[in-house]
Amino acid sequence: MRPTGNADQARDDAILARIRFVLVETSLSGNIGAVARAMKNMGLARLALVRPRPGASGFADAEALARASGADDLLQAATVHDTLPEALAGCRLVLGSSARLRSLEWPVLDPAAGAARLVAEATHGDVALVLGRERTGLSNDELALCHFLVQIPTNPDFSSLNIAAAAQVFAYEVRCHLPGAAALADPRLADSRPDLATAEEMDGFHDHLMRTLIGIGYADAEQCATLSRRLRRLFHRARPDRTELNILRGVLAKMALRSGGAD
Ligand code: SAH
Repeated sequence: MRPTGNADQARDDAILARIRFVLVETSLSGNIGAVARAMKNMGLARLALVRPRPGASGFADAEALARASGADDLLQAATVHDTLPEALAGCRLVLGSSARLRSLEWPVLDPAAGAARLVAEATHGDVALVLGRERTGLSNDELALCHFLVQIPTNPDFSSLNIAAAAQVFAYEVRCHLPGAAALADPRLADSRPDLATAEEMDGFHDHLMRTLIGIGYADAEQCATLSRRLRRLFHRARPDRTELNILRGVLAKMALRSGGAD
């Protein structure tokens, strides 16, 4: 049962305010509106759009407003970004949703486990769920920016939900896992270290790592896409904090120096 106390409500609201849904290159404005509705139904409000196909100024059209059915405020407040990393700025945990499993194995959670992590981690800072394009979903490079993949179990022969239907499943699970929904919340799922590296710090480290590996001749600039994704996955699994990242960057700088290149 949901609590009615003001303190519980305020705590739940603070968590909901730290969870953003990020839509990548959504083609249909109606789908953007329907996602806004699905979110607002469950108390979520932060919508971020990466290169919406109807255009940065045209996504809140009549079709979007009709499908939003009163969630116009979310559309008005939606942020628009040129890149996915920009839309993920400040996030300490990023989940990418996908109907398909990728060749490069990624840690996969079901919607309940994904929501449990989003909620637990949102007590400490910003978190995001990323939803992909209607036709092609998320690319491997986009998934590489995520800590986990979340997949809604489906009929294996017909696994792709409409993006707003998928958003609804995730938003509902988030609501079920708010602390107010008591029994389901598990604080042990959160990594509570206050100085966990953010998405942009991880990005900066990763760029530095790849530059160094190319510089010292370990990797080839033209052919390191798979290596790059594997290394991202490795460091996402490790979840380094800021001090640990600084140590690693110090090591990289020394390696570059030793091999005769500047960093
Ligand atoms: N053909 C695409 C499906 C795109 S559907 C693909 O295979 O990925 C649009 C978006 O809705 C997806 O990118 C994903 O974010 C979400 N979605 C649809 N079905 C899903 C499922 N079964 N599990 C998780 N996310 C799903």
